[in-house]
Formats: sequence, structure tokens, C-alpha cells
Amino acid sequence: MIDPFGRSISYLRVSVTDRCDLRCVYCMSEDMTFLPKKDLLTLEELDRVCSAFVGLGVKKLRITGGEPLVRKNVMTLFNNLGRHLKTGALEELTLTTNGTQLAQHAQHLKAAGVARINVSLDSLDATRFTSITRWGNHAEVMNGLNAAKDAGLKVKINTVALRGVNDDEFDDLVAWTGSNGFDLVFIETMPMGDIGSDRTDQYLPLSMVRARLGQRWTLSSIPDNTGGPARYMRCAETGGRVGFITPMTHNFCESCNRVRLTCTGQLYMCLGQDDVADLRAPLRKSESDAPLVAAIHEAIGRKPKGHDFVIDRRHNKPAVSRHMSVTGG
Ligand code: SAM
Ligand code: SF4
Repeated sequence: MIDPFGRSISYLRVSVTDRCDLRCVYCMSEDMTFLPKKDLLTLEELDRVCSAFVGLGVKKLRITGGEPLVRKNVMTLFNNLGRHLKTGALEELTLTTNGTQLAQHAQHLKAAGVARINVSLDSLDATRFTSITRWGNHAEVMNGLNAAKDAGLKVKINTVALRGVNDDEFDDLVAWTGSNGFDLVFIETMPMGDIGSDRTDQYLPLSMVRARLGQRWTLSSIPDNTGGPARYMRCAETGGRVGFITPMTHNFCESCNRVRLTCTGQLYMCLGQDDVADLRAPLRKSESDAPLVAAIHEAIGRKPKGHDFVIDRRHNKPAVSRHMSVTGG
């Protein structure tokens, strides 16, 4: 699948639920209204859409949400999608999780063929963790991370950089991830969805984070080989990798190889744009995949060049109205 700007689309992110057991302050408001469960694609339908994408050349599938591990029986989906790893059609099956349910699922994920996972963690301090996530229990996530390590899963920690919230912990996070053999990726907060407060004060450009880390750590650029949007550096002192995802300060769209499917079968061609293609109707129209495949091709044919996020006091409305949990991070 090649889009109108010559980019090859080889990476599908799938939000299997918009629900979550946490309410991170930058992601959701406290009183979220979620989609009625009847609107969701079934696990069988999700498998069918993912498999159609794999047939069209997708090499990397990331299961996300909302919190993917709160979707009932989600392990069935992982087990079934694992068959594409066995045939070699798919190179990577992975997930992004908040880690709260990882302790129960880590071994099973590994057995299904998952090799690496992303776990979101914005603080090493238990009290602060709860204030950022509103409802989170830090010890649960730590147990999940230990279980992931024991299962032999490679772990990347995702940390949203929040001014005045966790910006005094970045050195500790580099040291902690390094000593655990985890990668660490910093993310800029993006203006997606109403969170019931202003994002301006929390926004912290990663150029500043990188400069500050450079005072304590020896960081040198290394080529990115994970197929995602992060730019990586190697930390000489820990030997670990530190990545930066900068959708705000650096336009990462030129090399975008991704599209995103929601749990109701809507395909977003860009995280920062509203254009969407409905795949649920063609999926349900026929037992043959022909209408679905045609709809996918049509959608890829209108993937936009990029997005233009702005966070400042004049633009204090979200750039897109949907929350990150709809299309997944
Ligand atoms: N619940 C899972 C988790 O937290 O890892 C998966 C979904 S979550 C939407 C995926 C990632 O998006 C997380 O790392 C989260 O920190 C990030 N995220 C959510 N809202 C964001 C925003 N407005 N700006 C930047 N990153 C955001
Ligand atoms: Fe839930 Fe992930 Fe959003 Fe936090 S970032 S509220 S864990 S979906």
C-alpha cells in the first residue's frame, strides 16, 4: 500500500476499546462517556480487518486503546493474530498498555508471539503516579513490569513530559530504565480531546528535555530501527536507549508509515486530522473481503501529508476533538 505521497503503509495500530481503568489527566477527563459496547467490532471482526491489512502488506500490528488489556477476552485476539507471525507475513505483534493488568497477561502475551511491549509510566513516585492517573496504583504497574521481564518481553517505557508535574524525574527515569534493561521514550503532550482543563501550562518541548538530560548523561544519536515515530539516542552511562517523540516541535509526518483503526472500525489516516474511512460497513456487507480491501485502498489513497498541532494560549481548544484513547497512542 503506497499513499499519495509515496509513503509505504506497513504499520497498523488498532484501538480495541476506548475504555480504560485509569484517567490520566492529559488523556481523559474524569467523567468520560464511552461508546456503547454494541457498537464495537467483535474480536472476530477485529481479526478479519487486521488480517486483511496483513494481506495488503502490513508488517507491524500494535494493539492499543483505551487500555487494551481491559477488553474482555483480548488474549484470544493475540492468539489468533499470532498465526501471521508464524507464516512470516507479519513481522511484529505488539501492544501499548498502562501495565495495570500486565501481571496476569505477560506470559500469555509472550506465548502468543509478542516480543516487545510499550508500557506507559509517567512517574516513579507512587503518590504522584496516582495524581497523574487519578485512579492508578503504582505497585500494580511495577508488578506488571516485573512479570513482563520474567516472561522475557522487551519493554519500552513511554513517558509524557509534563512541565511542573514530572519534569524533575527525568534523570531518575533514565537511570531506572537503564538499570532494568528497558528503553525509555519521552512524548510531547498533544492537543487531543477535551480533558476538562487547559494543556498550555503542562506542555514541555522535548528539545528542552533533551538539552537538560545532556547535562547529566552522554547521549549520542543512533538510527531508529523500531519502525515507529521515535528518534533514539544511546545513553553511554546506562547503555540504554532514550527516545523522543516530538509531534509538536518536529513534524514527524514525512516518514509516516501508519494508519489507525478504532474499535468501531473507523480508519484514521492521520492522528492529527479528522478524515476517517468506515471499514465496518464493507466488513459486514459480505463474507468476502473484497469490499473491505477496496475500502482500505480507497482510504490509503487519501492519507493526508501531515498534521499541524499547536499548543499556545491563543489555541486553547484541542486540535482534534477525539481523545487519544479513540485512535490509540
Ligand atoms: N492505555 C494505554 C497506555 O496508556 O499505554 C494505551 C493507550 S494510551 C492512549 C497510549 C499512549 O498515548 C500513552 O503512552 C499515553 O501516555 C499517550 N497519550 C495519551 N494522551 C496523550 C496526549 N494528549 N498527548 C500525548 N500523549 C498522550
Ligand atoms: Fe488510559 Fe492510557 Fe489514556 Fe492513561 S493514557 S487514561 S492509561 S488510555
